[in-house]
Amino acid sequence: MKKSIILLSMIFGLFAMYACSEDDAATDNDDDNDETTGDVVATPTLAFDEFNASAVTVSFDGDEITIVSNALPNHTSPYWSANDDLYIDPIVADEESISPGNITEASYTLTVPTEPELASTSTETGLGAIGISVTGVPIYNQSEGPTDVTEGTASGFDWSGGHSGPTGYHYHVEARDVGETSPLTIDDDELLGIMSDGFLIYGRKCNSIGDYPIDGDASNGHYATTQHSTEEFYHYHIVNEIYLNTYYLLFGVDLQGTQNAIM
Ligand SMILES: [Zn+2]
Ligand SMILES: [Zn+2]
Repeated sequence: MKKSIILLSMIFGLFAMYACSEDDAATDNDDDNDETTGDVVATPTLAFDEFNASAVTVSFDGDEITIVSNALPNHTSPYWSANDDLYIDPIVADEESISPGNITEASYTLTVPTEPELASTSTETGLGAIGISVTGVPIYNQSEGPTDVTEGTASGFDWSGGHSGPTGYHYHVEARDVGETSPLTIDDDELLGIMSDGFLIYGRKCNSIGDYPIDGDASNGHYATTQHSTEEFYHYHIVNEIYLNTYYLLFGVDLQGTQNAIM
């Protein structure tokens, strides 16, 4: 009698073990794809090939990546000085609203972890550089000095979404298709740059679906593959909402990781 109970419980135990391992195997993929687990994944190094090599130097040092930019973009603009090869007369910018100051060499340095992590709470961005774009030009949020960008200020943006300020030339909004050769994303899935928390930001579309993502979090970030990685990793997209009737703000949301200084 006792023997058969032991045998029965052994068989049951084996069955339970088998059932468990089956279950684990079946849910393994789901775990990897879970958007709420906060998986820590290394930023795909292939993405850094997209940066303007004449402005941006990227160095990899163990668990850190350092991005140094001279902020000189590889595209035309009326903000270049008139004798520069890349100078053009304004296409979309209202001449009256062109802000003072030309594109000049600057120095921005950002060091981020190779495996950036989502923070327990998101953080607002401040005035100044909050990311570095593929052209080397810093990414700004909606702040323009003590206030937000107004329609008047925005009408001075060049076709690439940039203008000059006391701290130099910077972008606020997505570039516009005016027939100029653009190294910047325009309503597509191209890389825009890297934010100060180390997460990459792409255009309004995601390469993983070939369309505007609909599974973005409060910062329009999500875990998905991109053209730079077959492994899903967390990245942002430009929010697909019209700003000031005409534009797409590059980043008017919170950072979901930990901010690093851009100096
Ligand atoms: Zn500005
Ligand atoms: Zn995506």
